[in-house]
Amino acid sequence: MGVNILHFSYLIASITFILGLKMLSHPKTAQRGNLIAAIGMFIGIVATIFLYEKDGNHLGNYTWIFSGMAVGTIVGTLMAKKVKMTAMPQMVSFFNGMGGACAAIISIVEYNRLANAGISFDANTMKLEVLTILLGLIIGSVSFAGSIIAYLKLEGKLGDKSLPGAQIINLVLLAGLLVLIGWLISLGHANMAYIAILIVFALLYGILFVLPIGGADMPVVISLLNSFTGMAAVFGGFLYNNQAMLTGGIFVGSAGTILTILMCKAMNRSLTNVIIGSFGGNKAGDAREVSGTIKEISLNDAAVLSYYAQKVIIVPGYGLAVAQAQHTCHEFEKTLEANGVIVKYAIHPVAGRMPGHMNVLLAEADVAYDKLLEMETANEEFATTDLVLVIGANDVVNPAAKNDPASPIYGMPILEVELAKNIIILKRGMAKGYAGIENELFYSDKTRMLFGDAKVSLQNLLSEVKSL
Ligand code: NDP
Repeated sequence: MGVNILHFSYLIASITFILGLKMLSHPKTAQRGNLIAAIGMFIGIVATIFLYEKDGNHLGNYTWIFSGMAVGTIVGTLMAKKVKMTAMPQMVSFFNGMGGACAAIISIVEYNRLANAGISFDANTMKLEVLTILLGLIIGSVSFAGSIIAYLKLEGKLGDKSLPGAQIINLVLLAGLLVLIGWLISLGHANMAYIAILIVFALLYGILFVLPIGGADMPVVISLLNSFTGMAAVFGGFLYNNQAMLTGGIFVGSAGTILTILMCKAMNRSLTNVIIGSFGGNKAGDAREVSGTIKEISLNDAAVLSYYAQKVIIVPGYGLAVAQAQHTCHEFEKTLEANGVIVKYAIHPVAGRMPGHMNVLLAEADVAYDKLLEMETANEEFATTDLVLVIGANDVVNPAAKNDPASPIYGMPILEVELAKNIIILKRGMAKGYAGIENELFYSDKTRMLFGDAKVSLQNLLSEVKSL
């Protein structure tokens, strides 16, 4: 009876994951979707704790289990409540790393159990179980180490570091891991010393493959690490015959993989290059020097240009998130529209610091979804646009991606805002973007700079427009 209820709870959990994922695809339903999936996960966890049985025994260890859950809940809630919107990408990376670590620890515990029981690995079913354990351990460790490096980079605590011969070292580590898998399976019994070597190799690979990733290539790696954590959870699901863990892992793994492919396409990069860690080969220092004169624009001129334009396209970037200017931006958009101006938003797939960052930000401010243009559509529309307002964006509008082969973002498709008639850039100063390179767009004849915090500038612009 208990087992049936347990499996039923896994079915419920899996259904809530599907519903949640579906609802996450739209900003209006995303919050509810997240909650529904979390409830399903909770049901699955509680059912496992009380109903899971092996050889007639329940899990037990309740003090350990509930203490761990209490600590995790408190730490997770505090972190999520305290995190600033701009530090969200780091937190997502950190949590992803924790998921990878959990999957790796499950594998270590299970391997240790086999070692203590002195079980022989000669039977094919045992070989398969060991393979599952090892794959979960490797992928989980790589995801953990890689996500922590990504977290440190996004937090600005670690720069891009490319070691000489890093690609060769990565290939050697990968080959070493394959040999160790083969060796540990064929050994016929558990050997914790080899497991320790395997863990060190996997952690080193995770560190070395993310460490040199620079320029504008982090988004691809972040989504790849996400899919790794999902895959590691799948192996945990196989080990425990836990369907909820299995489906959850499959969803995360496949969603992460799809996102990785989309990001690779958006960045014009190949997945093979990511896996052997050859990204970011060009350092920011190699990029071409940019010179020219910067032209500022007065608030009044900016207001007149916006108010009397027929079509305005807003390009949001990371600075919009830093300034938390999304609500003011939406108000500005509505004010222009009230004067008959067509206002749209051009969204670059890697704008901000996490996949979908700009979509989430604008949805929070209730910007209508149909106003958001994807990069290709936006690029077709710029030529017929009177004014482009670039708000806190830099790399995603940098023409160096098209015309400077030495640039670390060379080859990445960009929003071609220079095709529009006028461009106003809202930023605080002349600081570079994430890729650390100059932007010749700021020196173009069509471009005017409106310096200041994006929210303050937009507020001032809004009052100026209202006074026209
Ligand atoms: P960028 O990081 O290129 O530029 C942001 C600009 O915003 C800066 O030049 C900064 O200039 C300005 N800024 C910062 N704070 C403010 C503020 N308060 N008010 C006004 N302006 C501000 O951002 P983009 O969105 O153009 O590009 C994203 C970059 O991040 C890409 O290189 C992408 O690859 C990378 N990345 C993206 C991830 C993703 O998943 N989307 C993940 C990791 C990296 P100033 O200080 O002078 O104001």
